[in-house]
Amino acid sequence: MLPLVALVGRPNVGKSTLFNGLTRTRDALVHDEPGVTRDRNYGVCRLDPERPFVLVDTGGIAGIEEGLAGATARQSRAAAEEADVVLFIVDGREGASALDDEILAWLRKIDTPTFLVVNKIDGLDVQAALNDFARYGFKDVLAVSSSHKTGIDTLLARTLAVL
Ligand code: GDP
Ligand code: MG
Repeated sequence: MLPLVALVGRPNVGKSTLFNGLTRTRDALVHDEPGVTRDRNYGVCRLDPERPFVLVDTGGIAGIEEGLAGATARQSRAAAEEADVVLFIVDGREGASALDDEILAWLRKIDTPTFLVVNKIDGLDVQAALNDFARYGFKDVLAVSSSHKTGIDTLLARTLAVL
């Protein structure tokens, strides 16, 4: 069975953009039409062809997007618990929010190794963006721009290193 990596984060932080960047094939890229692409929950990342892994977009499962209390949120949590690695995605432009704090609180209750992924660093003072999340206390922090494909190689390497 392929290893499983879960993308977790509040709405609009860029989970789907990262998911697409990690899972899309050349074909998908060619056929992509903005606004038409639908959220998918699962995909396979083959950026390193010798080390494919399954990606689950828990936002696609809709749990966190509908609040953390409901049945769908449980599904989202189950995916994170099942995963070998969680990528906790936050928005470097907006900084830490109350919902990020809430998600972090339940991530701390599960044993899955978790990286903090600060997205949307394009055009930002990266250090200042990271500082906003310093209080989260993550050892593993990755600064990326999913839309500009910055930092994706490092994210991939760090993820593969723990799978
Ligand atoms: P999701 O709700 O977490 O799945 O977030 P989406 O992937 O749908 O992205 C939400 C918005 O943020 C969209 O308008 C994206 O184009 C934008 N976005 C995603 N990643 C980046 C990024 O790295 N930089 C910038 N500037 N915008 C981004
Ligand atoms: Mg999404």
